[in-house]
Order: sequence, then structure tokens, then C-alpha cells
Amino acid sequence: MGETMSKRLRLHLGAEAEMEERAFANRFPDYEAAASADAAASAAAEDADDASPAPAPDGLGLPFHDDGKIIPTFTRRIQTKIKDLLQQMEEGLKTADPHDCSAYTGWTGIALLYLQLHRVTGDQTHLLRSLDYVKRTLRNLSGRRVTFLCGDAGPLAVGAVVYHKLKSDGESQECIAKLLQLQKSIVCQDSDLPDELLYGRAGYLYALLYLNTEIGPGTVSESAVREVVTAIVESGKALSREERKAERCPLLYQWHRKQYVGAAHGMAGIYYMLMQPAAKVDQETLAEMVKPSIDYVRHKRFRSGNYPSSLSNETDRLVHWCHGASGVIHMLMQAHKVFKEEKYLKDAVECSDVIWQRGLLRKGYGLCHGTAGNGYSFLSLYHLTQDRKHLYRACKFAEWCLDYGAHGCRIPDRPYSLFEGMAGAIHFLSDVLTPETSRFPAFELSPSQTDKKM
Ligand SMILES: [Zn+2]
Repeated sequence: MGETMSKRLRLHLGAEAEMEERAFANRFPDYEAAASADAAASAAAEDADDASPAPAPDGLGLPFHDDGKIIPTFTRRIQTKIKDLLQQMEEGLKTADPHDCSAYTGWTGIALLYLQLHRVTGDQTHLLRSLDYVKRTLRNLSGRRVTFLCGDAGPLAVGAVVYHKLKSDGESQECIAKLLQLQKSIVCQDSDLPDELLYGRAGYLYALLYLNTEIGPGTVSESAVREVVTAIVESGKALSREERKAERCPLLYQWHRKQYVGAAHGMAGIYYMLMQPAAKVDQETLAEMVKPSIDYVRHKRFRSGNYPSSLSNETDRLVHWCHGASGVIHMLMQAHKVFKEEKYLKDAVECSDVIWQRGLLRKGYGLCHGTAGNGYSFLSLYHLTQDRKHLYRACKFAEWCLDYGAHGCRIPDRPYSLFEGMAGAIHFLSDVLTPETSRFPAFELSPSQTDKKM
């Protein structure tokens, strides 16, 4: 027994050292402490018979009003930082790879950022800027990959949306037609195309759903969407049978022979797409295929509340959107919306506690494996629950991003890109300003007509 104890202790200490290596300790007070400091400050102001409430002591208090509107001083700090970072980004992009047109690390990601800035500010110059980048990507399609994040579907779908917004419907249609030409290679079951989000079928499906939510239902026909959904479901069933897991996990997926769990390469990202209302997956498939598979993944959860990077991995290490709780939480929230069971929400809230504790990453400020990507999980949970605790946590992660570069984080390979670097942090900051409509780019879909009817 003594041996077991010491082994356990060693494991525990090892995990702590590992944690410190990957993330900064979160020294922000949590919501409860901040809310009571805020209440105390207001009470003091009332006592003093002062018409304007005194702000809570520095670092304490809430950065938003009771209705969830961000307070002006915090708004101004974010706006100033966005301006400053945009300038740095544009300067830095002068030396970026001219041929990388992906949404993940290349020019489509920058086009998406300007599209977002246009959405939140209404400023037309951002839309025109986005168009500049779109034109550049459309001249440079790679013809190699097929997904929204890493392949040609990204530039084509974003191109279609930007042209549509500019009322250039001919150009928009041309992009959509080219996008649909990729479909044949996607639905072919004999190909070795994976199903995950970064390089596989779910990443192509996202492009179709993006068009149907951004331009309107029917932009891509239901039958085209169904064809891709069927290919993903059949592929999952086939692997599940092969691995003799049909009972426990009816839809099983792998990438490079590993059964990944997270949003980027794994099952969480694939199930998340299948549960989107715009994907119109039938109730039977959702209830009998997707739901038990989600429950299977849920059982792989670590005691900490975090998730492994793959089914065979037992080390509780990564808390990123790509691997770990920060990606899985989106699957859990969607499962709660679709299946209306409390257990999914409870798990999602537990994920958010892990992200709060371990989410200020040394890897940087980006979306895929950085602090901004982790911050999005709080914004999404705020949408779902309207609990201001999650808005507060998102604001604190935004505050962390306001000190961009000051923490001694690792510099990513593509430091200005949407998924690895600065563009992603700017995207997050702009969403914190309008938290009620925020969405993780190239992943979360805006509420569509079908969604509203639900
Ligand atoms: Zn990543």
C-alpha cells in the first residue's frame, strides 16, 4: 500500500509540475470575489450619498453592468488594444508566407478577422479590407486540401460570403460552384480522407453550413449537405465495427491511426458538427448514433474534469481548443441543446472550471492552443446559461490578452495568423465587446433560421 501511495504522490506532483510548465497560474480573483467587491463598492458609494458609484479597487469589481453590457473603461481599453494589435499584425504580415491561403494560418484567416470587425463595428472599410484578402486567396487556391480551416473550402466559402455582402452575386455564385466541385472527393468512401475538422469531411461540412447560415438556408442544397453527413456517419460506423465498439461507441473516428478526442482532430469536433441544426441530421441518427458516442467520450474524462487528447492517452496534460476540455466543452454544450439533458451542462461547467484554472497558456494567445481560444469557451457558456460568471471569466481572459506579449509566452510559427497568433486574439477581443453575438471563428455557426425555430 505504501508503494501505491508514493506512486500516487509522484503522479500528483508530476502533474503539478507539468501544469506549471504549460500554463500560468491564474491569479485573477474568480467571479464571486469580484462580484462581492463590486457590491461593497456600490454600497460605500450609496453611503457617501454619491450620485456616481465609485469603482471597486483596482483589479476587483465587475467589468460589465447588470445587463451584461461591458463598462465604458474596459471597452475603451479593448478598442485601443485592438487598434494597436491590428497595426502590429499588418506590419508583421508583410513577411508572412504569401502562398498560405488557409483560414488556419494564412490569408483567409485574416479575411475572416476583417469580416468579424465589419460585423461588430459596421465599418465598411473592414469589409473592403476583407475583400482584398479574399481576392488574394482566390488567386492562390492550393488544390490540395478540402476543408474550411486548412483547404480550399475556406477561401471559397469566405469569398462567397464577402462577395454576397458586397452584392456581387455573380462572383459569390462562382465561389459556391467551385466549392461544390470539391464534393465528389469528399463523399467517396474509398478515399483515405479523414473525417476530422482540420483536414477531413467535418471541415468541409462546416464550409457548407457556414454558407447556409451566413448567406441563407438553401444556399447549398439539403441533398448536398445530406451527402456529406452520410459519408461522415458511414465512415464512423465502419471504424466502430472494425474496432468492435459498435455497442459502446457507434461512431468512431481516427486521424493518423489515433482516435483523437478534441475539437481539431477528434471526435468532439465531428460530433459537434453533426449536432448543428443546419446539418439536419435525423433524430434517429442523433439519438442512436451520436448520443451514445458522446457518452462514450464523456466516460474518458479525467478526474480533474479535463479530457484526454486521444482515447488511448492517459495523461492529463492539454487544455486547448484542439486537445482537451476547451474543445470538448463545445460538444457538451451542443449536446445539452440537442438532447436537453442536464448531465451535459454539468460536464460543460466542469470543463469551464478546468479552463479557468489551467487556460492561461504558455503557448500564447491564439485560438487553437492559446488563451483566446480558451476564452471563447466562457463566452459560449455565457450564451447558453446567461450566467454572468462566465462572462466575467471571458473578460478576465481578455484582460490577459490586453498584455499581449508581456508574459513571456512562446512565439508561434505563424505569429500573426488567425489560429496560432495575433489575429485570433484580436478576434476574441472584438467578440468580448459584443458578447451576446460572439462565436469561435471557423467553428461555431451563427444562429440560422432553422436554429431560431427550435
Ligand atoms: Zn492547437
